[in-house]
Amino acid sequence: MITPVMPTYARVDLVFARGEGPYLISEDGERYLDFGCGIAVTSLGHAHPHLVAALQDQAERLWHTSNLYRISGQERLAERLVAASFADSVFFANSGGEAIECALKMARRYQYLNGHPERFRTISFTGAFHGRTLATIAAGGQAKHLEGFGPPVEGFDQVPLHDSNALRAAITGETAAIIIEPVQGEGGITPVDPQFLKAVRAAADEFGLLVIYDEVQCGMGRTGKLFGHEWSGVAPDIMTIAKALGGGIPIGACLATEKAASALTAGSHGSTFGGNPLSMAVGNAVLDVMQEEGFLEGVERLAARLNSEIEQVIARHGDVFDHVRGLGLMMGIKSVAPVGDVINAMRDHHVLAVPAGDNVMRFLPPLVINDSHIAEAVAALEAVGQELGS
Ligand SMILES: *Cc1c(COP(=O)(O)O)cnc(C)c1O
Repeated sequence: MITPVMPTYARVDLVFARGEGPYLISEDGERYLDFGCGIAVTSLGHAHPHLVAALQDQAERLWHTSNLYRISGQERLAERLVAASFADSVFFANSGGEAIECALKMARRYQYLNGHPERFRTISFTGAFHGRTLATIAAGGQAKHLEGFGPPVEGFDQVPLHDSNALRAAITGETAAIIIEPVQGEGGITPVDPQFLKAVRAAADEFGLLVIYDEVQCGMGRTGKLFGHEWSGVAPDIMTIAKALGGGIPIGACLATEKAASALTAGSHGSTFGGNPLSMAVGNAVLDVMQEEGFLEGVERLAARLNSEIEQVIARHGDVFDHVRGLGLMMGIKSVAPVGDVINAMRDHHVLAVPAGDNVMRFLPPLVINDSHIAEAVAALEAVGQELGS
C-alpha cells in the first residue's frame, strides 16, 4: 500500500529531532556529524543563532505581502548580491529549479527582444544537473530523470563537458544560451577547468549567446569564494543560486547583468512566494555571516586541511577509495567500493555524507566546522576504509 508521503525518495530510516551546529540529533538521541548539510543547504550549520534571531524577528513582524508591493528585505538582499557579484539585478524564487526556469526564460526573451525570436535553444553539458521541473530535466538531459515524462521540453542540446570543439559545433542559428555548473554537483563533484569556462564565454560572445552559470550548489561560500566561478575570473550574464542562500529556508535567486535582466519586463515573469519577507530576512542573515572578515579565507583553510587528511586515508585504503576532488569544501571522494556501501558505513560511524554520480561520495560540511569535526569525519573515513577493504 502506498505511504501517505508520496514515495519519490529512497529515504534512510532515520528521523532527526533537532540540529546543533554541525550535528543532527535523531529522535532516539543519537548524534550525527552532518557532512552533507542536507544537500549543501545548511552551510552555516543547524540553528545558527544569527539566523534563528533573524527568522524569529521577522516572524513576529510580517510574513507575506505579495510582490504587488515593495519588499524591503528583498531590496536589501538584491543590493547586497549585486554589490558582491557581476550582476546588476536579481529575481527571487523559492528553489534552485525555479531560479533556473527564470534564467532560461530570460535568455530566450533576451534573444526575442533583440530581434532573434528564432534563438530559443540552450546548450548544456554531460554530467549536468539543473533541477526536476519539465524544462530543467530537459536541460540536465539525464535519461533516468526524463523517462516516462513524455517528449522532453524542446530547446535543449547537450555536449560533452570540456570539449570546446563539440560546443562550437553544437551552436546553431537557434541557440540562445549556454548553461553550465562551474563545479558540477550531482554529476560527481567535477570542477570545470577555468580554461573551458573561458572557451564557453568566448563562444557565447562570438555568436551572441548568453552564459548562464548554475551555482545553486557551488555558490554561497561553498568553494571558499562567495561564488564558485570567481576562481576562474570568467563572469556569466546570468547566474542562479539557491541551496545555501537561505541556510535551510526555501529560496532561490536569478542574478543577471542589466543587459540580460532587462528582458524580463513587468508582467513577463513572477512568483507568489518568491522573495517573501521570511526568506529574505534569513538570506540577509546568511550574507551577514559569510561577509564577515576572514570567513571565506577560513573555508579555504579548512578545505586544505580536510583535503590533505582525506588524501592520507585514501593512500592507506586504495582498495576502497580512488581519489578526492573538488573545490573548497565541495568535495567528492571517488570510491572503488560501491558508494552506497561507503555512505551507509559512514553513517554507522555517525557521519552523514551524500552520494553523487560517478560513484562519488560528497562531503559538503558546514563552512563553520573546526579541526575537531574534521578529525571526527576523517576517523570515520579511516574506519570505513578498514572495514570495506580486502
Ligand atoms: C539542487 C540543484 C538544483 C535544483 O534545485 P532545487 O531547489 O531542488 O529545485 C539545480 N541545480 C543544481 C546545480 C543543484 O545542485
